[in-house]
Amino acid sequence: MEVFGNIGGVVRRVLVNMVRAVARRGASSVTSIVLPVVETQSPELNLFMGDITELDVDAIVNAANTSLLGGGGVDGAIHRAAGPELLEYCRTLGGCATGQAKVTPGFNLPARWVIHTVGPVWRGGTSGEPELLASCYRESLARADEVGAETVAFPGISTGVYGYPIEAAAAIAVEAVRATLTDVTEVRFVAFNRATHDAYAELL
Ligand code: ADP
Repeated sequence: MEVFGNIGGVVRRVLVNMVRAVARRGASSVTSIVLPVVETQSPELNLFMGDITELDVDAIVNAANTSLLGGGGVDGAIHRAAGPELLEYCRTLGGCATGQAKVTPGFNLPARWVIHTVGPVWRGGTSGEPELLASCYRESLARADEVGAETVAFPGISTGVYGYPIEAAAAIAVEAVRATLTDVTEVRFVAFNRATHDAYAELL
């Protein structure tokens, strides 16, 4: 395992996948080293109540819209705190599809990175919303791994203006993070109101 210990996240994932592929084909000597590798991949999950822009973590996640050019809610708060350079940078990115994520520097924020993800608008739950919301969490963690961010804070993506019911959204958030193979060591779920706090507290 020491062999895997000091290498970058992407290289490590490639090695993990190679080992798994060999293991699936039945090489028992390789199977014996699969479990320790996978066991190192689960981040600690914590709950924080307050303003995500104040957090001194490696990356904060923004609940953005497809234009990536700013908006209300947490998006507006992040752009205000990061400063105008964030918008300038976002203009170069060509937007972002729902369920995907893109990373930028944090500029004036305490966080080094901002991961912008676009949650689904709630349309009753039968328009692919659960899968798209889970994808936001998976893709955000993938971007975190790409830049080496180990501590990541998420707001309740889609649970504001986009109208996703908080209990359902919190369950998807926790499940998606738990199911994702990542080098992130801590995920902080950020609640900006009591209902969000209580929904996460039930699950963690
Ligand atoms: P969406 O359009 O994805 O619903 P919103 O920004 O409207 O995004 O809301 C997403 C979540 O972010 C909501 O739960 C809202 O309460 C929360 N929120 C708003 N401002 C902040 C902030 N400064 N820090 C943390 N969470 C926030």
